[in-house]
Amino acid sequence: MRLEPSSRTIRELSPSFDPWDPITSLREHGRHVLTSVEMTVTNLCNMRCEHCAVGDSLTMKEGEMLPLKNMLDRLDEVEHLQTISITGGEPMFRASTVESTIVPLLKYARERGVRSQINSNLTMPYARYEKLLPYLDVMHISFNYLNGDDFHEVGFANSGHPVAKEAAYRLYDTMLENSRRLSEDGMLISAESMINYRTHAKLPQIHKLIGDMGARRHEVHPMYASSFASTLPVLSLKEMSDAIHSLLDARDPEMWMLFGTLPFFACSALEEDQKLLRRLRKEKNVTLRNDPDGRNRVNVNMFTGDVFVTDFADISAFGNISVSKLVDIFAEWQESHPLNQKVNCFCEAASCCGPNLLVADMYYPKVDFKSRKAITL
Ligand code: SF4
Repeated sequence: MRLEPSSRTIRELSPSFDPWDPITSLREHGRHVLTSVEMTVTNLCNMRCEHCAVGDSLTMKEGEMLPLKNMLDRLDEVEHLQTISITGGEPMFRASTVESTIVPLLKYARERGVRSQINSNLTMPYARYEKLLPYLDVMHISFNYLNGDDFHEVGFANSGHPVAKEAAYRLYDTMLENSRRLSEDGMLISAESMINYRTHAKLPQIHKLIGDMGARRHEVHPMYASSFASTLPVLSLKEMSDAIHSLLDARDPEMWMLFGTLPFFACSALEEDQKLLRRLRKEKNVTLRNDPDGRNRVNVNMFTGDVFVTDFADISAFGNISVSKLVDIFAEWQESHPLNQKVNCFCEAASCCGPNLLVADMYYPKVDFKSRKAITL
């Protein structure tokens, strides 16, 4: 079944409309349903970031991808599909991937009225990104720097060989220039900063630079202690909370700020957690996104067909598109996977669908979220 182009008017993404948030489909269907599919289209990347959550999966060369038709046929079967995400590696690393896989996936999404996102480091030639302009909804980038030196230090920490500063500066400048040009051309650039031991004291300055780059949304997440990042220092909850307050104090209230997978929950008995959540809820243009991984989204590796709950390698594959429908794989995860049973709580009053698995492991290894309830609002 290939669907006809959608005649629906495309609703603008905004703080009041974020189709990646699983709470929307949970409310609509009364249970979590698969509305989002993320696809890993490469394991190649020109960078080796210190914090890369898929760093151990990166390779220097890779083989053939599964036929695109196999993927599209599986997407066709996802009745409630609302969003797709394309990730890597660096998805734009090879021009041939852009032509043969990314553009066709984005066209498919646009024709079906499905919203799309790409995760890129934005350091590739502008001409590659330009091809996405007619179809793409969100260009998601990582931005955790104040200057080219930060970028050099963080972006090539795991290269295994020295990378000249000048080479890093050139890529940094390309990223800034691409962001400005694409923003001017109408693309929604959403820049994500992680809160970690390097960034927590300089988030206001990072936020300012993100605005200067023309980005319309600033996403903020804690660093996940996964893959390359698993040996990095972990911030205390107090340091993280202080960092968020300092960012809120200094931010541009006109810019959409999206906080995701924060380790603060409405079931906490701590007044400082409740105070932070109250502030986040009432700030202008601030949204708190529930974690899509495993709630309304799965990840498909387009080389093996393996299906994961996240693109991070920490949790093994639990199905393969060559033998199963995505909706069936998702249903099995939902109903019987022990990891899902650990965090699939829901408090309607707090609009909360429970913690991210990695964040829960980092900060609350002994807490049974299924036995907790939102306390105050
Ligand atoms: S849904 Fe879970 S994590 Fe969220 S407030 Fe309720 S019990 Fe806490």
